[in-house]
Amino acid sequence: MPEPVQPPIQREAEYVLESPLRCPLCKEEIASVQVVRLLRSRVNFVSSLPRRGHVIVCPVCQGIISADLGGLA
Ligand SMILES: [Zn+2]
Repeated sequence: MPEPVQPPIQREAEYVLESPLRCPLCKEEIASVQVVRLLRSRVNFVSSLPRRGHVIVCPVCQGIISADLGGLA
């Protein structure tokens, strides 16, 4: 039986930066970022948090540069 393989990160989309930026995590200069969707999997009954959001990921180190809830439908 083969070991279960961790599926690769599901990248929703890639966005090109208007000007290159330095990743705050790996210090590499990046010309694009990747966006991964966040889906709410568990929630408190009274929570008013949005159902989904997105995470902006560095394409070099896969580190999370920014995360946001709502906004992207
Ligand atoms: Zn990085």
